[in-house]
Amino acid sequence: MDAKALYKISYGLYVLGCKIDGKDAGCVVDAFIQSTSSPVPTVILCSIQANQTNEAIKQTGEFTVSVLGTNVDPFVIANFGFQSGRTADKWANVPHSRSGDLPVLDNAVSYMRCKVTESKELSTHTVFFCDVVDAWLGEGEPLIYGDYQNSGMKGKAQAAFQEFKEKGKPPEKKAKWVCSVCGYVYDGDVPFEDLPDDWTCPLCGAPKSEFEKQ
Ligand code: FE
Repeated sequence: MDAKALYKISYGLYVLGCKIDGKDAGCVVDAFIQSTSSPVPTVILCSIQANQTNEAIKQTGEFTVSVLGTNVDPFVIANFGFQSGRTADKWANVPHSRSGDLPVLDNAVSYMRCKVTESKELSTHTVFFCDVVDAWLGEGEPLIYGDYQNSGMKGKAQAAFQEFKEKGKPPEKKAKWVCSVCGYVYDGDVPFEDLPDDWTCPLCGAPKSEFEKQ
C-alpha cells in the first residue's frame, strides 16, 4: 500500500475554540466535515486524544469552529498549531470575539458553534459527532490544507512563530502597500520602504510613488 495516496484527500483548515476548567483553549484542526444537513446540520470532528482540546471538548461537549481564509495571518496558524494550550494562552495572542462563552477568531470566513451528540474512540483519535447549533458567515474564501502546505504559507507560519518565540509577543502586522492605479497589494519579504526607487508595480508598471500605505 502506498500511504501517500491518502495525502491526496482534501481538507480545510480551522481554528477550534473551547473551554477547559473555565479557561479558553483551542487548536488548528483539518479533519472536520459536514455529515448531514437536515433536520439540523451535523458535522464530524476527528481530534487527537493527546491534545488538550480533546479533553476540553469532552469536558463541556461544545466548541466553535472558525474557518480560516486564504488571507489568514500565518501567525494565527502558528499560534494555534505549533504550541500546546497546556503551556500557552493561545487566544490571548489573536484578535477574537465570543459566541456566548466560547472564543471565535476575528476575520474568519465563517463560524460555527457545535454541540457534541455522540463520540467514538479510535486508536489515537476521538470522533465527535455534533449538531451545528449556530452559524455565521464572514468574508473571503476558505484556505485548503494542501495550498497551505504548498503555497509558501507554511514557511511564513514557521517564520512568524520563530519571531514570536524570540520576541515573546505576536509579530506586528506589516503595513500593506497598495498600487493606487491597479489595486495590486505588495506582499514581498523585502519591506516596501527598502525597495529601490526605480521599482515598479509588477501588475501595471506604475512607479513606486503611486503606492499608498494602508
Ligand atoms: Fe499597479
